Amino acid sequence: MGLLENNDNMKELVENLTYKEKVNRSLTLIDEAYDRYGDGLVIANSLGKDSVVVWALAKMVDPKIRGFIVTTQFKPRETIRFMHGEVAKYPELKIFRNDEEIPENLYEYDPDRCCNTLKVLPTRWAIDEMDVSCWVTGLRCTEGRTRTDYREVEERDEGLMKLNPILVWKEREIWQFLALNNVEVNPLYAEGYRSLGCAPCTNITTDDNERSGRWVGTSKCGGECGIHTRPLKGEFVLQT
Ligand code: SF4
Repeated sequence: MGLLENNDNMKELVENLTYKEKVNRSLTLIDEAYDRYGDGLVIANSLGKDSVVVWALAKMVDPKIRGFIVTTQFKPRETIRFMHGEVAKYPELKIFRNDEEIPENLYEYDPDRCCNTLKVLPTRWAIDEMDVSCWVTGLRCTEGRTRTDYREVEERDEGLMKLNPILVWKEREIWQFLALNNVEVNPLYAEGYRSLGCAPCTNITTDDNERSGRWVGTSKCGGECGIHTRPLKGEFVLQT
C-alpha cells in the first residue's frame, strides 16, 4: 500500500514530522500520484507561497508536470508581474481568466458570487480543458479555521482526485523550503502579507490566523474563495 492510501492522523503529522520528513512525504505523494494519473495530474498554482512550494516539489518529481493559474481582473499588479515571470519560465503553466462583466463593487456586497464567477468558474474550465483527473493544491491544515479537516488525498467531485501534498506543513516550514531552495516568491510578502488574493479582498493583519487578512469586513473573513468547497465538475449553480 502506498502513501496515497494512508489513513494517518494529520494533526499528529503536523507536530511530529521533521521538516525533512515532510519534504520527503510530499515528494512521495506527488510521485505516487504522477505514476497513477500521468498527465492527468495538474498543479493548481495560485502563485501564493504554498503554491510555489508545491510547484517546486512537482518540478523535482518531473519537470514535465503541468499546472494552471486562475487570475482575475482584481489581482494586484505585483501578482500579475510575478505570474508573467513564472509563465515565461514554465510554459507548461496555463492561465485561465473569466473576463465577463460583473456588477461594480460586487466583491463588497456579494464576495461569494464574485469569487464563484471569477475564480471557481475558471478553475472548472481548467479542470475540463486540461483533462485533469487529479488536481494538486497548496492547502495546509494550519492555515486557518476553514482548513483543519482536509485529507492529503480526497475525492470531493466524482472522478476528480484532489491531492494536498503539503497539508501537514507549518508556515515556518514553507519559508524554510523557499529559502533553502532559493525559490522566488511574490514581492508582496515583503510588505507583510501572509496570504494573498485579489487586491480589494486582501489586507495585511497582525492576527495569528494566517488567512485573517482575506475578505476583512465580510461574512467570508478568513474564509475560502470556493475552489475548495464548490463542485468543480458536473452541474454548477452560479448564484449563491
Ligand atoms: S477575492 Fe474578492 S475580487 Fe477576487 S474574485 Fe473573490 S470577491 Fe472577487
